[in-house]
Amino acid sequence: MKVGTQFSEALEAAGGFADGAEPEKILCGGPMMGFAMSSLEAAICKNNNALTVLREDPVSIAMEQQTACLRCGRCNQVCPLGLTPQMMAAAAERKDYERFEKKLYGMECVACGTCTFICPAKRPLMQLFKQAKAEVMARKRRG
Ligand code: SF4
Ligand code: SF4
Repeated sequence: MKVGTQFSEALEAAGGFADGAEPEKILCGGPMMGFAMSSLEAAICKNNNALTVLREDPVSIAMEQQTACLRCGRCNQVCPLGLTPQMMAAAAERKDYERFEKKLYGMECVACGTCTFICPAKRPLMQLFKQAKAEVMARKRRG
């Protein structure tokens, strides 16, 4: 596919949606690091490497099934950057963005999704961190 081709054209060339069923979520990128797309009419850029079509939205399912943190520490063990997702999530949920950024280095999170994948309590950690990072950046812009 050429840069500038619409995602919808790429999907059509790949055979379209299986069984013609509308998916619940479409990700620009892979299942771990891709971001949700609201439309397939966007053009493909040179850094786009995949289009993932999901029949079910795993984030919505996780939001329904999540429980309180079990304090098992598994997320802390698997973070490739040595961050502490358990504490970052607690800070983000309390909206303690100062702690999230300055004490826990939450802005270093590369949204790899490993902590979310391993969490037995099905807590959507990576999504929480993306929101917290966006909030920190928005506050910086506001001054
Ligand atoms: S999503 Fe962020 S906090 Fe979680 S494992 Fe990846 S880098 Fe670490
Ligand atoms: S893996 Fe999930 S349940 Fe375990 S400490 Fe981390 S957030 Fe809590």
